[in-house]
Amino acid sequence: MKDGYGREINYLRISLTDRCNLRCRYCMPDGITPVEHCQILTYEEILRVAECAVSLGITRFKLTGGEPLVRRDCPQLAAKLKALPGVEQVTLTTNGILLPLHLDELAKAGLDGVNVSIDALCPERYSAITGWRGETPDWEELLRRCVKQSWNTKVNVVLQQENRTEWALLARLAERLPVDVRFIELMPLGYGGKCDSVGAEKALEELKQFWPDLHPVQEHRGNGPARYFAAQGLRGRIGLIDAVSHKFCANCNRVRLTSTGWLKPCLCYEEGTDLRALLRSGCDNRMLTAAIAEAISRKPAAHCFEQRSQITEHKTMSQIGG
Ligand code: SAM
Ligand code: SF4
Repeated sequence: MKDGYGREINYLRISLTDRCNLRCRYCMPDGITPVEHCQILTYEEILRVAECAVSLGITRFKLTGGEPLVRRDCPQLAAKLKALPGVEQVTLTTNGILLPLHLDELAKAGLDGVNVSIDALCPERYSAITGWRGETPDWEELLRRCVKQSWNTKVNVVLQQENRTEWALLARLAERLPVDVRFIELMPLGYGGKCDSVGAEKALEELKQFWPDLHPVQEHRGNGPARYFAAQGLRGRIGLIDAVSHKFCANCNRVRLTSTGWLKPCLCYEEGTDLRALLRSGCDNRMLTAAIAEAISRKPAAHCFEQRSQITEHKTMSQIGG
């Protein structure tokens, strides 16, 4: 359906949990109390919301979190979402740590694509950014397995001073594999507002030292707002997700469902609709659909990252569902 500004909203990001096995410093550092299980939507509740969303023209779902793979039976939910009549695409955003374990089940579920967040390839730097103390997967092997499933495979890298020396190494993954490597500007949400950010143009400038012919391409490569660049020798693309320096709200196509059932029309603002309360009050699907439609129609025109005092969302990204 169209929102109040005429934008077609066809994409819902569903957060399965606020919990995570990592502690990325800009998202969920140590010391955050997780939400109680009873406050988290059940899979049945999520499926009801999805069914109603489909009836409004939302045909693409992204499973996110927190870390979606720490919630039990995530692949089963993916399969059920994929089986809903009218659903075109179900994809997943993950930090990848548990992906080797669940990859086959996700493939069986009919997953269409995966975004793997890797902020550094160097284990020490990865650990410093994410707090992970265990072994990391063999990233290249993992991405190769994803590509083998014919998944639309992307790597997400949050731009930070701390991983600056890794940008080219990460971009090189797109040389060896047909994966897109996307560099994301840190948004001033939650702990992101307390960390040093680096602009995407800076990253582009540095990457051009390695791929001087890096040039923009007008390609639609997913549901997101990334700007893509190609260069000779790159099998995938380099992407920039520069929500802070380039406002792309005019083309926004998404809404978000937090793990507690709060339907959020825009990342920047706390405003939204409490679908959990509705679901648990015994509403029927007609009422649920009307509530979703109402929230979409009230989607704000744009975020306000440039005027931080106007940001009304104070949750962490892991609680919002990034
Ligand atoms: N745990 C999964 C992961 O890391 O991919 C899914 C949830 S995570 C919140 C989704 C994406 O949001 C990740 O790529 C993460 O790096 C990114 N992210 C988290 N906080 C952010 C922030 N403040 N600004 C920009 N991106 C952020
Ligand atoms: Fe966990 Fe993803 Fe947040 Fe990192 S970015 S703490 S992996 S939810």
